[in-house]
Amino acid sequence: MPELPEVETVRTVLAPFVVKQTIQKITINLPKVVVNVKPSDFVKVVTGQKIVDFTRRGKFLTLHLAGGDYLVVHLRMTGTLTVERADVPYAKHTNMILTFADGQELRFVDSRGFGRWWYFTSGQTDTSGQLQLGPEPEAVTLNYLRDHILTRKTAIKTLLLDQHIVAGIGNIYADEICFRVGIRPTRAGCSLTLAELEKLHAQIPAVIGEFIQFHHVPFAVYAQSKGTSYQNDANLRVYGRAGLPCQKCGQPLIGTRIGQRSSVYCAHCQK
Ligand SMILES: [Zn+2]
Repeated sequence: MPELPEVETVRTVLAPFVVKQTIQKITINLPKVVVNVKPSDFVKVVTGQKIVDFTRRGKFLTLHLAGGDYLVVHLRMTGTLTVERADVPYAKHTNMILTFADGQELRFVDSRGFGRWWYFTSGQTDTSGQLQLGPEPEAVTLNYLRDHILTRKTAIKTLLLDQHIVAGIGNIYADEICFRVGIRPTRAGCSLTLAELEKLHAQIPAVIGEFIQFHHVPFAVYAQSKGTSYQNDANLRVYGRAGLPCQKCGQPLIGTRIGQRSSVYCAHCQK
């Protein structure tokens, strides 16, 4: 499931192919992908518009249109975005196609079908709460964490996954951040010492920033994998490694569940 670093890869790789394009035609093959307007209205208002910027906030991508309107995309579990020539055969589960005036297409492929698109007019904001996000990892301050982590009895992992607290962290990087800080993901937020909170404050942007660098792939690699290759596995220390030896101490890593989510940690290195 793409998290902030993966979504940032999508943005940086595709931005040169998307910005300045005019949307000539829109094809929606799965109507429920459009959340807040009728698919027919989406097609009507977006067709003919020019894309002027492509930005990211948390795990959400935004296509900014010339008149100030904007489209928001969330890839959820399995959504991918690619830019293809119109003569390239469509992958199964191509749920949305934006055909550009130069003949290229921005394709949204999503096998699980959970990915979503929103349309907003200039100045309009989300009222559902889904798009209301906490600060980006690099903008989180120590005081902010003190207010939002030390006051809570909830497991630190669950707090890190809460998009209203910090935007962009998912299951992978929550585990990696806890490992770096040396705290078990099951610890209550309020149980953290000030020293641990300071480490957390340093590691949230450090881990996310490093993985943005690790994921820096050229367009050819991205296109060949159809937007699914992020090359992060080799750099993960705990996520997906339950039962394997900890790379720091050699003890087998422990797999557990926190809420509905799988979690991996080292019982020796994480207190
Ligand atoms: Zn260890």
